[in-house]
Amino acid sequence: MLPNKTQCLVFLLAALSGGIMAVAPAQPAAPAEGTQAGASRPNVVLIVIDAFRVDRIFASNHGVPVMPFLSRFAADSLQFVDAMSPEAWTKPSMASIYTSLHADAHGVQSGAKYMLEPDEAPESADALPAAIPNIATFLKAAGYDTVGVQTNPNLQARFGFANGFNRYTFLKGSPGIFVTPEVLGEIQKAKAPFFLYVHYFDPHAPYLALPPYNEAFGGMPQPPPQEEALLLERQVDFCRDLDRFCLGLTDKHAFPPLSAQGNAYLRRCYDVECRLVDDQIRQLVEALAAQSENTLIVVTADHGEELWDHGELGHGKTAYGEVLHVPLLFHHPGRLPGKADSTPVGTIDILPTVAGFLGLPPDARWQGVNRLQAQAGLPAQVQFSQCRGAFPGFPRDFGVAKIGPDKLVLDRKKNTALLFDVVQDPGETKNLAEARPEKVAELRRLLEEHTARMKSVCQSLPHEVGALDDETKQAINALGYLAK
Ligand SMILES: [Zn+2]
Repeated sequence: MLPNKTQCLVFLLAALSGGIMAVAPAQPAAPAEGTQAGASRPNVVLIVIDAFRVDRIFASNHGVPVMPFLSRFAADSLQFVDAMSPEAWTKPSMASIYTSLHADAHGVQSGAKYMLEPDEAPESADALPAAIPNIATFLKAAGYDTVGVQTNPNLQARFGFANGFNRYTFLKGSPGIFVTPEVLGEIQKAKAPFFLYVHYFDPHAPYLALPPYNEAFGGMPQPPPQEEALLLERQVDFCRDLDRFCLGLTDKHAFPPLSAQGNAYLRRCYDVECRLVDDQIRQLVEALAAQSENTLIVVTADHGEELWDHGELGHGKTAYGEVLHVPLLFHHPGRLPGKADSTPVGTIDILPTVAGFLGLPPDARWQGVNRLQAQAGLPAQVQFSQCRGAFPGFPRDFGVAKIGPDKLVLDRKKNTALLFDVVQDPGETKNLAEARPEKVAELRRLLEEHTARMKSVCQSLPHEVGALDDETKQAINALGYLAK
């Protein structure tokens, strides 16, 4: 079994004996026997980066590009620069990418019910129903070899995320350096045309500054004050403590807020993770290019990450841009232009856009649209999202509606509203709700109509739960999604 993120630092340090590991460039994968060289239908590769802040793609740290490969790759891609995640945490967001349904429509929301009702059985969590078509079942029916390599315990086969895949490998919480070799092996085995889904767990917490990537920005900065070292070492415990505080299970935070120095150190660790995943994507893209030029590569994130932008760390608790604004790149040299497109889109558009690119007819149930075609009308211009948390009874429930620069965050628990102009104020620091009540009312009406429609759809769809065995609970817990 491959090491997960919390185990691998020890593993690496032991293996390196104090040295810096040289990461060998990927060997180009030879075409496998049985592959259809020159097959008319392109391969499709979906790369999802977990907990990834879109602002890191073109960022620099100490004058050094954080993601030198992905920034070039984005410039060569059809890059949707205003893409929104449908939810603020992994499972509902990925269920939306899979199905092209909004989160309230598929209803795959709950991470674990036993947390609040520990005496209630069974211990289970929502699962993606097999009866709902998804991107893998759709492409398999179109003749694709379907392969998944993923790392997040919330996306295991027991929760329905292997539906439609011929092969689905789960590498529990593994850093990308262990994931990429598995993926390269799958590329060699896959029969063209293939659909490959790769889910990198970096840069999800804990943010490990693994060698050699920790040298990318001139070495690590001055360590934070002693009293903050505990938080930096125990980011997952911090996130879990925050969940417990939100749920009312504790009456105060167990960890102190980070100083500017501590935050700078944490952000450096996060950027090191981004550089690591940048290097993994480089290896993967080079291997794909060596095998076939006819490959559509889609790069996105399930959601972003808060690094104390609004006083918290992690994701799944708020609906600010650092959590909901995600990258969305479609890359196919020769068939797609390298250009930035400012159309407001969502990751629910991935499946219809892939289908449109392949010339396959869309499923009438999809709620996203093909973004390779111009879309007219209001619904295509409004972005909807939400943050309901991973647990039943979570005391935060935010609905989001955005048109152009105006973004409404409706706090349904407190019946209060935030309104931001994300062009003038991309950091979402100035609440304009009192100054612009007419815009709040307009967006609120659209949001409530949308939510009612989605809940109606949800009632017409099947629902499933997946059992949580002890190992799964342990794995999810280790990543901060459950309280002890
Ligand atoms: Zn995630």
